[in-house]
Amino acid sequence: MKGSFYLSTLGRLLNWARSRSLWYISTGTGCCADEVLNSMGCRYDLERFGCVPQLDPRQADLLIVCGMVSYKGASHLRSLYDSMLTPKYVLAIGACANCGGPFSPQFSYSVVPGVDQVIPVDVYVPGCPPRPEAIMNGLIALQEKISGQESSRFEIE
Ligand code: SF4
Repeated sequence: MKGSFYLSTLGRLLNWARSRSLWYISTGTGCCADEVLNSMGCRYDLERFGCVPQLDPRQADLLIVCGMVSYKGASHLRSLYDSMLTPKYVLAIGACANCGGPFSPQFSYSVVPGVDQVIPVDVYVPGCPPRPEAIMNGLIALQEKISGQESSRFEIE
């Protein structure tokens, strides 16, 4: 039988599994990186959410952007994002990543006013810097977003 249809239960299961096994890489161009490192440590332990740090973008499906992105570095960030697995997700941490923060255009000529000018962002975490609790809250919001996505579509021959 040719055609396509949704296997909604299996799709929901796949999305749930994706949301609980986010392998991430992180940029650390600002002081927010310290808070992300703090979240990875034993006190807050991001790994209990299924988040495992990776060194290779080809093995990661989550990009955590913390800190400012310069116009000069924007193309590198874009190529990092392009080399990640799909489906892929982006968590923007802190005011600099969200909108340029204290380096916004009225104060700086060299910083991109928000990482969403370069790559699509799924969840924004506000703060300067956000505390680890806020980072975990953003991560849980991302997990909920992924779990609630439309079920995966399967082509049946
Ligand atoms: S948002 Fe604040 S704490 Fe985070 S990188 Fe920018 S200046 Fe530093």
